[in-house]
Amino acid sequence: MSETTLTLDTIISLCKRRGFVYPTSTIYGGLANSYDYGPLGTELLRSIKNLWWREFITKRTDMVGLDSQIMLHPQTWVASGHVGAFNDPLVEDKVTHKRYRADHLIEAWAEKKGQEVETANMSLADMANFIVDQKIKSPDGNELTEPKAFNLLFETAIGAVSGEKAKVYLRGETAQGIFSDFKHVVDSTRMKLPFGVGQVGKSFRNEVTTGQFVFRTFEFEQAEIEYFFDPETTSWEQLMEDWKTAMWSFVTKTLGIKEENLRWRKHSDKERSHYSKDTYDLEYHFPFGWKELWGIAYRTDYDLKQHQNLSGENLEYFDPQTNRHFIPHVIEPAVGVNRLFLMVLFDAYREDTERGRVVLELNSRLAPYEAAVFPLLKNKPELVEKADQLFKDLLNDFKVTWDDRGNIGKRYLYQDEAGTPFCITVDFQTLEDNTVTVRDRDTAEQVRVAISELPSMLRSKQ
Ligand code: ATP
Repeated sequence: MSETTLTLDTIISLCKRRGFVYPTSTIYGGLANSYDYGPLGTELLRSIKNLWWREFITKRTDMVGLDSQIMLHPQTWVASGHVGAFNDPLVEDKVTHKRYRADHLIEAWAEKKGQEVETANMSLADMANFIVDQKIKSPDGNELTEPKAFNLLFETAIGAVSGEKAKVYLRGETAQGIFSDFKHVVDSTRMKLPFGVGQVGKSFRNEVTTGQFVFRTFEFEQAEIEYFFDPETTSWEQLMEDWKTAMWSFVTKTLGIKEENLRWRKHSDKERSHYSKDTYDLEYHFPFGWKELWGIAYRTDYDLKQHQNLSGENLEYFDPQTNRHFIPHVIEPAVGVNRLFLMVLFDAYREDTERGRVVLELNSRLAPYEAAVFPLLKNKPELVEKADQLFKDLLNDFKVTWDDRGNIGKRYLYQDEAGTPFCITVDFQTLEDNTVTVRDRDTAEQVRVAISELPSMLRSKQ
């Protein structure tokens, strides 16, 4: 195990080198806070989403899925409070005119000084005073403007008509589509409280902080759940505990993240949104600090009530057993898939200095490829043919890749960085007895295995 400290730059460079993530539009000079997922990254991102969906939607009888639009009726965002209050405190460098989050500059200043400052509790005026009192400057060393609130919603327009009517927003969270479809779900399914609706999809925020790679981007994917319940018959404290356990289990067991890199952080009273009774963040220890990965909040009946008030539609639930009409309460576990992705890479990264290699120790559910198949030599048709047959057979049940370039050692190193758990080599002995050499990514050990045993071996790293 290496002693060198892992940095964000190391992961960024691995991502680019191996095709996990590329900066967007580089042929035109790039686009801030925007990244594309390459062939390996797409597989990993998809696996995370599929595992989330399977665990929280498919395998649970109290959950259903939804896929609502990115552009919803603009009133949605008035009801949710995003139009009025989805704000970040912004300051501008008076010389370069670059904008920064005031809370982020204060936190960076505090970290440098070894002080504890809770920016979540500060008003705009508090931040303005703090910046003046402590003489905080921009990262370029220049004076800053006073903090101003800046709305994070992206605006766009639909149709040919200009003006207020055509203005729509790109959704700032997937959750509001769930609330506005709540009645449809109740009317079209047999779901009875308590039950949840989950959704995975793109959300958009006009973030001003740059340089945090896929941790904070304009466009990102969320996996959100709204879990509806009757507060008179279900204890919200118990539900909160159950969901926290389910979230922890997904991250540690399904994704295989080390527990010591995770912690819960309870929001203070001032930090919490006014409608929320309790909020926790599941945080991961990134090299740039403990950061929010997954939030869970008890949002009471706030959202459905807001939508009922603004739309005039009755969004009450009818319980035939108690004969009561009421607005259900809700617990919301909301995670950013791209943050899970970044966490998975950090957690799996290992520098094996002894063997001079970088290894991504991904379990085979997450690894873009579960195995790589090689013919020992590229210029021996009998080996290539046998390897090709094996490769095609395995493709039916596994994610496998082919490599016949360079020497075997180089192929191993390439697959280690891609996180491929096993490398399978077809050699001359294979032609005689149908066995192959299987090399284990983590131990670098090689064993001889019968082709018929390969499926059970490949399943052993899940
Ligand atoms: P932060 O404080 O980091 O800006 P938040 O508290 O505003 O995040 P939520 O509104 O709770 O975030 O969104 C739910 C989840 O969506 C977050 O836990 C995070 O994983 C993810 N998320 C939010 N904003 C972004 C972003 N700009 N890029 C990537 N993921 C994001």
